[in-house]
Amino acid sequence: MSTPTIGVLALQGDVREHLAALAAEGADAVPVRRPEELAAVDGLVLPGGESTTIAKLAARFGLMEPLRAAVRSGLPVYGSCAGMVLLADRLLDAPADQETVGGLDVTVRRNAFGRQVDSFESTVRLGEATVPAVFIRAPWVEEAGPQVEVLGRVVGGAGDGKIVAVRQGSLLATSFHPELTGDRRVHALFVEIVREARGRRSGAVAGEERSSS
Ligand code: GLN
Repeated sequence: MSTPTIGVLALQGDVREHLAALAAEGADAVPVRRPEELAAVDGLVLPGGESTTIAKLAARFGLMEPLRAAVRSGLPVYGSCAGMVLLADRLLDAPADQETVGGLDVTVRRNAFGRQVDSFESTVRLGEATVPAVFIRAPWVEEAGPQVEVLGRVVGGAGDGKIVAVRQGSLLATSFHPELTGDRRVHALFVEIVREARGRRSGAVAGEERSSS
């Protein structure tokens, strides 16, 4: 199958690191700042950064509604840290007017590990694997809806057992920053999700063409 094109929302945050990790996993990785660029990708990463800033810039760039429509239409999206906040349907410890893209049926607590804890490394249990994880003013998932699969939890320390990686269909989110550790399992999983979704879409189109001929 040909190379999937995966965008990284490039308004603020650690865009370059995600582009590099996606490229290393075999995707054609491109920055996305405009609705036309969003329309051209097979999947999208919402990077870490500051979710209130990213949301404000997305609104200013006319991207908020296109992002919501893309999620509704089934575009695979991976949100890391601030990106997880942006994908959440519900937020705790956020300004009352903070907008999200939404789509992920979770309640996410911002800066959940405590404001005094700016950044730390920990270990996350991801399925059968144990991976090193970097957290920077990170959120966690306080509550996950019935369709949400819990992929990862913190092992040990203050956040022991907290949910920090989830998947709901083609939506993936982590509290931590795999783009900063060189452990590319999460990016590999996301590229796989994008390939599967693309396979389903092209299968559906081929099916429609067959049935209409
Ligand atoms: N605390 C930030 C927010 O809520 C996220 C931090 C990060 O992405 N590293 O936007």
